[in-house]
Amino acid sequence: MDLNLKDRTYLVTAASRGLGFSVARALVDEGAEVIICGRNKDSLKKATTSLGELAQYFVADLSKKDDIKALVKNIGSQILHIDGLFVNAGGPPPGTFAKLTDNDWKKAFDLTLMSAVWLTRETLHLLKKSDSPSILYSTSISVKQPIDNLLLSNALRPAVIGMMRTLARELAPDIRVNAICPGYIYTERVEELMAASESVVENINTRIPLGRLGKPEEFGPVCAFLLSPIASYIHGALLLVDGGLYQGMM
Ligand code: NAD
Repeated sequence: MDLNLKDRTYLVTAASRGLGFSVARALVDEGAEVIICGRNKDSLKKATTSLGELAQYFVADLSKKDDIKALVKNIGSQILHIDGLFVNAGGPPPGTFAKLTDNDWKKAFDLTLMSAVWLTRETLHLLKKSDSPSILYSTSISVKQPIDNLLLSNALRPAVIGMMRTLARELAPDIRVNAICPGYIYTERVEELMAASESVVENINTRIPLGRLGKPEEFGPVCAFLLSPIASYIHGALLLVDGGLYQGMM
């Protein structure tokens, strides 16, 4: 299937590695140009070299409003429009209610919810100039069922879904919006988290009906499809990529 991505440009955030990188990879493989961002110049350079000529990067900390404003200003000074935005950021830290401080909550609020608000607000004018603009918010299976010891994710990611569902009415019919919810995808971060214990991996595998963690290459192309003009009638949707882990009826 041709996703019709040639000559289109996508902004993929937090993409020096992991899920963001897998989305940038999939978009480039389909002929799109991508702009990636992250906090570390060296990692971004490495990622961009690996992605090839269709990729470029900007340094930005997504938990900072001014960084996002500068990022989009820089993009706007180079190109007239973008065709899509993949909203992604680092995960908020783990912790239980008893352990998390007000400061942890405030930092997670900026990183997880406000980054999505700022990115959406700042890029709207660039998206509106595309003939097929779309936004895809990357969240987590935690929006469907809470994950132990991840209170900040469980509490704040559903707010991104609430915004996405609201924007599905407010931005229609001009801009399509959707959300994607990974379960366990074997990125560097998950590898690091699980390095401590083989039994954690085994325990997760037994809970996933497909019997294993997902691979980044099983995530990126699904996102590329949802961002592409081929998905032109998918709007306001929330898609799990979790190997069947979520077992609720709705
Ligand atoms: P990762 O650590 O492999 O990659 C995260 C990327 O985000 C890196 O490029 C990092 O530099 C960048 N980043 C972190 N904080 C940033 C900031 N403030 N500003 C700019 N860039 C920043 O993680 P991942 O596995 O790719 O996960 C990406 C997101 O998806 C995280 O929020 C994670 O919690 C969430 N998630 C991941 C999974 C999974 O299975 N991998 C499942 C559910 C949710």
